[in-house]
Amino acid sequence: MPETGHNARVITITTKSEDGPLLVIHGGAGARGNHSAEEVNADLNRALDAGYARLEAGASAEEAVVAAIHVMEDAPEFNAGRGAALTSDGIVQMDSCLMDGDGRVGAATGLDSARHPIDVARAIKDKTKHVMFAEPTEQELAEWGIETEDNEYFITQERREELVDAQNNGDDWQKHGTIGAVARDAQGHIAAGTSTGGITNQMHGRVGDTPLPGCGTFADQRSLAVSCTGIGEAFVKAVAANQIASRVRFAGQTPEEAAKATLDEVDGYHGDGGIIIVPAKGHGVIAYNSEAMKCGYRSGSESHVQS
Ligand code: ASP
Repeated sequence: MPETGHNARVITITTKSEDGPLLVIHGGAGARGNHSAEEVNADLNRALDAGYARLEAGASAEEAVVAAIHVMEDAPEFNAGRGAALTSDGIVQMDSCLMDGDGRVGAATGLDSARHPIDVARAIKDKTKHVMFAEPTEQELAEWGIETEDNEYFITQERREELVDAQNNGDDWQKHGTIGAVARDAQGHIAAGTSTGGITNQMHGRVGDTPLPGCGTFADQRSLAVSCTGIGEAFVKAVAANQIASRVRFAGQTPEEAAKATLDEVDGYHGDGGIIIVPAKGHGVIAYNSEAMKCGYRSGSESHVQS
């Protein structure tokens, strides 16, 4: 049995509307590295701008989630797309998941060329009869209309230095900023998406929580949409995202109670990290037991970022 910890911070997003459009994003539970708070906050705001513009235009929650994630996948300070963490053999292998509140879900692992890994998850959801692909071929990516880049495109000098550091000075489960978004659209529909490069110096082929529906990403119209970041192994063991949704749906807990209890279980599995939540009805929640949590939200004129 996991031990239980008690140090989760839980923030209720007390926006005026409890059922209107809401977008919550995270840029990961890791530290900012070489990047200033201004730089990270500016990119979080750009992601909120892109995603919330979709909601204001009447687009679906899923559209907003994908638009916000695209911005963060292109920003090199986040551990997703360009700037993803490096594996022990010095390459980028990325994972993603996109889930709609109606239960439709797509996920991919071991991506080494998709510029926007979240697009692969969306294509698997919309264009195949399957849920998850490991290392889809270049031909499949082309058929799905996925924009690709050489692996070198994703690799930044900062990540190279972090890999050298992890290999020379001990592997400290470095987390850097997996990204995620959860949204509720004007129709009250919810969706969740997460995109990551995993953990620096992870073994080739390692898969974390991010692409596993119910672990790092989950959405269920009967409860809530959630995206997680942190030590993936612990989130997998806790089946964290589904656990939160089930606590709300079956045990009648509030999202805040569910987030805290689940993070305590994650802590019991020797992991830390963060969670963002948008319920089908009610206030959004940001919770974390890591030192930092880069995140933000927007609803109407109410908007906030932190890093
Ligand atoms: N959860 C991610 C993974 O384990 C890493 C992170 O959030 O930083 O792959």
